[in-house]
Order: sequence, then structure tokens, then C-alpha cells
Amino acid sequence: MNERYNIYSAYLKQTYGEKVYKLPVSIPDTCPNRDGTLGTRGCAFCGSIGAGYENLPATMTVSQQIAANIAHIQPKYKARKFIAYFQNFTNTYLSPDAFHQYLIEACQPDIVGLAIATRPDCINETYLNILADVKETYGVDILVEFGLQTANYKTLLKINRGHTLAEYIDAMIQIQAYPFRTCTHVILDLPWDTMDDTIETAKIISAFPSAHEIKLHSLYIIKNTVMAEWYRKGEITLVTAEEYVRRAVAFIEYTRPDMVFQRLIGRAPKEATDVANWGMGWWRVRDMIDAELLRQDTRQGQKCQYLHGKAVRKFME
Ligand code: SF4
Repeated sequence: MNERYNIYSAYLKQTYGEKVYKLPVSIPDTCPNRDGTLGTRGCAFCGSIGAGYENLPATMTVSQQIAANIAHIQPKYKARKFIAYFQNFTNTYLSPDAFHQYLIEACQPDIVGLAIATRPDCINETYLNILADVKETYGVDILVEFGLQTANYKTLLKINRGHTLAEYIDAMIQIQAYPFRTCTHVILDLPWDTMDDTIETAKIISAFPSAHEIKLHSLYIIKNTVMAEWYRKGEITLVTAEEYVRRAVAFIEYTRPDMVFQRLIGRAPKEATDVANWGMGWWRVRDMIDAELLRQDTRQGQKCQYLHGKAVRKFME
């Protein structure tokens, strides 16, 4: 593991004994924030494809997508183990039977895990039990990825998320009873959020024993979104790259030391976005964060003393 924060690729190597590659899988799903159940416009930042830009079309079957992706990756990297990543839209927002079938189809030889991206208000015992059954039957590891974005429930209302912090808390409590890992997706620089919100988000996530992994992201202005409209009209101001780095460093410091960072910055293709990562490659922003951690001589968990009765700790000494 990296000295200053736990890196996902190192975690995978340590867990599986070799490099493991994620294979994006698309299914013909949608999202309750788009199909009219909660709303039709979606989250203010969300583009029409719902997340992944490298995915194969959902018109291909899950096994065809996995086979095509393995054929592409295996010779290039000599890869032998894979995680099937159900990424686009809300992958538990479909009937329990259909969900079960897609999962079973993904359990192919060399698939060591399934990663399921969803919203915190789209999980319950039925879906969790299906995941538990698939884990037990096919011997795959399960990771559920929840989009939270921020713990600031007022910002969640502004971006039309369709859920607030409460649903995330509920999902994290429900999943605690299951032998799964979770990843929480956070956008560190949503307009209206401040450094206080960054720190509180790290603290709230770290307070859940069921929280294992984190994905940090900057806000992309994806073309033809509500956010793009706000940006064009000058109704929102974006933070600078330096401020993003400052927030990422603080987030890392307040994150529980055992958790793993899947990423510190996202990536999006130029053609789909008006603004993304300040026009820099994602690795440059990652390098800036690494350099700032080094400069401040700080690391993951450095400020994670707030859990388990901080104020009474002195009486235990
Ligand atoms: S919940 Fe996800 S897929 Fe649905 S609108 Fe929001 S970001 Fe897009």
C-alpha cells in the first residue's frame, strides 16, 4: 500500500495475489430519478448515459460484453482475474428476478467479484439477499457502490439528487449485516459545498463499519445537463484545482485508516464535457494531491480521532 493512503490496485493485488481488472458491464436499466418515479431530469450533473463512457452497449448480453472486454484486456495485460462492474445508471433498479439473472450471467470463469453501482434508496433486503445468494453459490466477492456525492443534504436537494443523507445512512446500516464491501462515490467540489462539508462527508462515511472504499471525483460539467446550463448562465462557480487538492488532502486525513481509495480524481472524455479536471489529465491532479500530502507530511487517518467517544477518551487512559 502507498505510504500516505491505501490505493485500490494495491488492495486488489494483496487480496487476490495478482492484478485484477474491472470490466464495465451495461444492462438496460434506468434510474428512478429519470423514469418519473422521483423525477425526469435526473441529477443536475448527470449526462444521458448515466456514468461510464467506456462501456459496451446494453444491447449486448452481459456474457458477450464480458467476453469482448476480456478478449481486449487479457492479451494486453496478461490479465487472469476480473471484476464485472455494473456501472451505468442504477443497477438495482429493476425487478429482483431480472437483477438475479444479470448477476448469474456475470459469474463466469475468471470473474472474482461483482461490483454493483446504485443509489442508496435502491437497495433493500430482497436485493441484498440476492447478492448474498450469488456470492454463496458462485464464490464471487460483492461490492456495492453507493452514489452519495456529499453529506450536505442541502446540496443534495439543490442538485436534484432525489435522496438525502438519510437514505445513505439507511443503506449503510442495512448492508452491515452482509459479507459485502461497499464503495461510496463523492464529488468533492459541488458548488455550495465548503471545506466543512468535505470533512463532514469523510467523517460520516468513516463512521460506518460497513464503509470500505471511496471514490473521489471532481465536478464535471457534462454537456447538455442542468449543471451545464447553470454554468453557462454564471449561476454556479467552480472551485480551483488547488482548492480541490486542499479538499482531497483533508478528506484523506479524516478517512478511517483501513479504508481504500479507489480513486482521488475521476476521468471523462473531452467531447462529452464542457469542463473536466481543469483541462488537465487526471494523473496530474492525482500527482498534485500526492505532492501536497508529502509537503504537509500528512496521511490517511491522520485526523481520524473523532470516532468512539473522543471526549471521554481521557478517562480511559
Ligand atoms: S442517480 Fe445516477 S443515473 Fe440517476 S440521474 Fe443521478 S447520477 Fe444519473
